[in-house]
Amino acid sequence: MVRQQSTPTYIKNTILYAIAIFIAVIIYYIEIQVPPSIALGGVYCLVILYSWILPGKNISIYTGFFCTVLIILAMINKSESIPQGGLVGLNTFISIIVVWICVTLVSAAKSGYAGMERVMLSLEDKVWERTNALNKSRKGLEISEKAYKYLYENSNEMHASVDFDDNHILRCNDTLCKKLGYSKEELLDQPVELLYHSSCIEVFEKSLLNFKTEGHIKNVELQLRTKTGDKIEVILNVTSVKSKEGKITNCRFSWTDITELKRLNIERIAYAQRLEIKNKELEQFTFIASHDLQEPLRTVTSFSEILSNEYFDKFDQTGKDSINFILEATGRMQNLVKGLLDYSRLGKDANKEKIDFNEILSNLKKDLSLKIIETDTEFEYKKLPENFMGYKSELIQLFLNLIINSMKFRVKDRVAKIKISSTVNDAELLFCVEDNGIGISKNHQDKIFKIFKRIYSRKKYEGTGIGLAHCQKIVDLHGGKIWVESELGMGSKFYFTLKN
Ligand code: ADP
Repeated sequence: MVRQQSTPTYIKNTILYAIAIFIAVIIYYIEIQVPPSIALGGVYCLVILYSWILPGKNISIYTGFFCTVLIILAMINKSESIPQGGLVGLNTFISIIVVWICVTLVSAAKSGYAGMERVMLSLEDKVWERTNALNKSRKGLEISEKAYKYLYENSNEMHASVDFDDNHILRCNDTLCKKLGYSKEELLDQPVELLYHSSCIEVFEKSLLNFKTEGHIKNVELQLRTKTGDKIEVILNVTSVKSKEGKITNCRFSWTDITELKRLNIERIAYAQRLEIKNKELEQFTFIASHDLQEPLRTVTSFSEILSNEYFDKFDQTGKDSINFILEATGRMQNLVKGLLDYSRLGKDANKEKIDFNEILSNLKKDLSLKIIETDTEFEYKKLPENFMGYKSELIQLFLNLIINSMKFRVKDRVAKIKISSTVNDAELLFCVEDNGIGISKNHQDKIFKIFKRIYSRKKYEGTGIGLAHCQKIVDLHGGKIWVESELGMGSKFYFTLKN
């Protein structure tokens, strides 16, 4: 909005002043022409009145001075040519009084008018500002209304406003129309029950009854029916709109389409079932394979031993080396097959029982006492949980593997320190087995929990690479997680959780 301003021009002002001077000079001229008995000075009031339209704050006072000067000049002029000086003086006096009364009145009126004008201007300013602000907020409102409308119509959810008394649809969004295949005209004024599939009409009516008492419906699973009779799986939420008096006037229905979600969930369940079957098959395979491998392996081992015991001296050097390699390899293979067999048996036919971890660790400490002394290990644990339900022999195996590893991967010439601690919360137990050993670089930390994965050669550190895989499976059996935090050369912290 552009504000219009009227500015009097320079020329216009000059003309106005010139007219005032011209009138005053004419009155002066007439005054000096008329006989002294006629008091013409009062006519200057015309000039004073005219000064109303002249620009300038004190212009009436200046005009008054100007007229007074002219009256005095006229008096001087007349008293020189006429002998009755007393009358001229009286006329002059009266004229000056009249002129200044007029000046006072005009000035007062003018300043009053100027004050009014200022008030008017400030009012006009305020009106202008308010109009601007109103325009701005109207525009903002229009924008947010548009945005709201867009969001309402194109929301992923289906929305409708429904009359509380007769359940008729008052308003609905485009998404609802599109999903159900109706036009808005077809849906408006229809009972909301029309939208439901016959399979859930009872559930819906029950929820509606609850709504009448509670004022809302929360996350009820239902089915909508499209115009062509197809089913849409939805979750229904209803909120109420209340009048000032607190009476429910209408209800806002929102349906979230969960058809795809349900389909995915069914797929997921089927997938999980298939996976479970496959896992069982795989476990069975591992068990059978490792179990059945033991027999021929035992045969190879015992015949190699017979060969070695009976005929060793008869072999040349190559034969002797070969028989040693065979014995070594079969020994290793026996360890691997046994590890695999143990792995496949973990949790099999086991029952959960009450476990006191303090007891487990004190027994382990006794069992490992020789090794602890031999490796010069400091072993400590803080008070551990006592009433956990779990698979006992598996949990003993878990701690044993971690402790043995901590001793195996210690730093030479450094006293090995193993600390075991735990934290308990409602959902799970968290354990930490900490050592000051050789540590594990970041890029190996995930791999080591996989079966047969090792970092170092057998020559450097003995082992099969199955210990941590056992730990992983035992933790899985208890619904937990296992991970390691470590840096090469800085020791390791093996954490694991067990579901309470
Ligand atoms: P194994 O001990 O028979 O090699 P594991 O599965 O127990 O097999 O361990 C896998 C690998 O993880 C080990 O070879 C070793 O490199 C690393 N590791 C396990 N525990 C520790 C530990 N406490 N400190 C350093 N490295 C470890």
